[in-house]
Amino acid sequence: MRDLPLIAGFALAGALAVAVPGALVLRLLRRRSVTVHVLGLLTVTVAAALAGVLAVAQAMFISPHDLQVLLAVLAAAGVVSLAIGWWSGRRLARDAVWADQVRERERQVEAGRRELVAWVSHDLRTPLAGLRAMAEALEDRVVADPDTVHEYHRRLRVEADRMAQLVDDLFELSRIHADALHLTLSAVPLGDLVSDAIASAEPVAAAHGVRVVATEPSWPAVTGSEPELGRVIANLLRNAIHYTPHDGTVVVSAGRDRDTAWLAVADGCGGIPEADLPRVFDVAFRGEPARSPRSRGNGGAGGGLGLAIVRGLVEAQGGRVDVANSGTGCRFVVRLPAVAARG
Ligand code: ADP
Repeated sequence: MRDLPLIAGFALAGALAVAVPGALVLRLLRRRSVTVHVLGLLTVTVAAALAGVLAVAQAMFISPHDLQVLLAVLAAAGVVSLAIGWWSGRRLARDAVWADQVRERERQVEAGRRELVAWVSHDLRTPLAGLRAMAEALEDRVVADPDTVHEYHRRLRVEADRMAQLVDDLFELSRIHADALHLTLSAVPLGDLVSDAIASAEPVAAAHGVRVVATEPSWPAVTGSEPELGRVIANLLRNAIHYTPHDGTVVVSAGRDRDTAWLAVADGCGGIPEADLPRVFDVAFRGEPARSPRSRGNGGAGGGLGLAIVRGLVEAQGGRVDVANSGTGCRFVVRLPAVAARG
């Protein structure tokens, strides 16, 4: 037992001779995957134990038979710990990727929320101030002429309708951002949805002198949620009508590419500037008001939320939406999983 400090010294020297270069190698591995790192750590540990045993054996403290026994025990422990290390390293790596995705998603939700708050404070305050000024003018009888009073009442109603639409859009967008849509997907024939949407948009189109035509003789059916799809088509039609000049035409068409069905709304807006194309689906993005034939000061058909809602709803149904300039205007294409039956 008096040899014990000496044995410990030999074992320590042997282990250190392996552990120090091992630590350097681990440092070099720090940018590699978690699995590689865990395996490296375990290899250094087992190799340090082995080196300690060999150093003690070299100094003749262990008989050749005991050395063989110890090496067999170390080999078994090494194999088991490396297998466990490989398994838990892969699990840790998977958890890390998942945690990264959750963090990224939270970051996006937070950025969306901040954008919305900025949008609300900027864009709702201005029309509210206008409403208040008109209401006060009526209350104080600053305007008395019947025509002006009538005009003020009309503008109050129009602004109230617009704000109701904005609040509705905001609510929809916050549901999308909060992942709270809980859609029930089923086979939806596009033909019925498109004719309903065109029928609803017809009065506005007629008032703007824009023709809406649907060219497809046989509409595909898609896997989606009917109310949300209806809203997508309504938003695209509303924009197309709004940005098409008087006497222009809006064309709705559809088709199938293998497992995907597409629906396109093409207008005569004169084209969206190339630099704006990737941004039109962003929350609160609005193009140059001058491009709109019916600019109302804020330059848009709604509040800059319509296309953000379209993208959110389409993606929630497993699809995607794109826009490109084509002919005398632009063309929005929604792609969704197709179902075998045709509507
Ligand atoms: P809004 O129309 O209320 O401004 P949207 O999110 O619907 O908000 O659209 C964002 C911007 O994209 C619009 O301001 C406009 O510049 C552009 N845009 C959208 N739809 C069309 C369209 N059909 N034709 C031309 N430009 C469009």
